[in-house]
Amino acid sequence: MIIRARALVTMDGAPIENGAIAVAGNKIVDVGSWPDVHRRNLGQTEDLGECVLLPGLINAHCHLDYTELRGQIAPQASFAGWIGEINARKADFTADDYLRSIACGFAEAAQFGTTTIANLEAFPELLPRIPPPPLRTWWFGEMIDVRAAVEVADVYAELRGGFGADWCGGIGLAPHALYTVSGKLYAEAAIVAAQHQLPITTHLAESREEMAMFRDGSGPLFEFLQSIGRPMSDCGATTPLALLLQRRLLDERWIVAHLNDLTAGDFRLLESAPKFHIVHCPRSHAFFGHTPFALEKLRALGFNICLGTDSLSSNESLSMFAEMRQLAQTQPSLSPCALVEMVTTNAASALGQQDVLGRLRVGHLADAIALPFTGDVSRVYEEIVEFAERVPWLLVNGRKLENT
Ligand SMILES: [Zn+2]
Repeated sequence: MIIRARALVTMDGAPIENGAIAVAGNKIVDVGSWPDVHRRNLGQTEDLGECVLLPGLINAHCHLDYTELRGQIAPQASFAGWIGEINARKADFTADDYLRSIACGFAEAAQFGTTTIANLEAFPELLPRIPPPPLRTWWFGEMIDVRAAVEVADVYAELRGGFGADWCGGIGLAPHALYTVSGKLYAEAAIVAAQHQLPITTHLAESREEMAMFRDGSGPLFEFLQSIGRPMSDCGATTPLALLLQRRLLDERWIVAHLNDLTAGDFRLLESAPKFHIVHCPRSHAFFGHTPFALEKLRALGFNICLGTDSLSSNESLSMFAEMRQLAQTQPSLSPCALVEMVTTNAASALGQQDVLGRLRVGHLADAIALPFTGDVSRVYEEIVEFAERVPWLLVNGRKLENT
């Protein structure tokens, strides 16, 4: 199959006017100008006309479990207060509610042109009840042992057993955060991830209250966790980042979510720290009113930065376009091309999939989207970032997805 469009954004060099890709099975087998691709390849052409064809977008951090909580939790004065609110909602949720949330999340993400999702799944035991997802999905088994012990081997077995043979994507591990996960569980998760070559993610330095808890041994998050019986001997000495770095677990396989609250000392530590990946969630960040994200400083230190939506308990939608626009507001010096990189090539690298995802390139998997485009090709990245409609055309693993 040959797919032609007025403009082709490959994320490899300049956009191509009157471009095309050829797809065989689930792979891209040719990329270039339409006359060249047409001459070199047999098969039918789907002419998308006045559109731009680009790689499918990648959401590097979300929790589809909570899609149904959209609009239910108002911004709280305290981060610990928000945790209390979401825990209260979760107490009423049944397995069927979670399954509905996950299905709605996939449908919505597809409407916004997301073809790959990194989903932190708190209930991996639900996987056998989930139909084959329409999108390429990494299921990160989320683990918390602040209230009850967790065996990483059991979570890994559940993920492996539940991941359907006909599903696209993979599995990973997600020890939730320093304040909910013991040192022992972090260490075991790192070992299992290394053993099985899995991506691994965690929340770190998200809020001022997390900083106050670990550095000062005080604040609402400290008090809440102390009240539920968490041992607090790791608090009152050092910053969250310093504490996790001390454990020497982080490496290039880790995707660290947030890193909003960092001290000058933390930035010095990051200079020689392993270059893990960082995922920023611009609209969830605004919802919580976190400390401004030091994007340029982190980029200058050599960190790969990608974007996520986080869950709809702190966001309005699963649109990665809206995340790019939110980030453009707070970081006006970022080019539209750099924004698109964060939801394509950078996110593919974070998942360890830089050789097969994030670009329209020969040998890559055939994940692409098309958006209406009638403007000047020199402004194509601007128009991509500004796109605020339903994405009319998606290709996931070489198959067209009906976006209903
Ligand atoms: Zn999260």
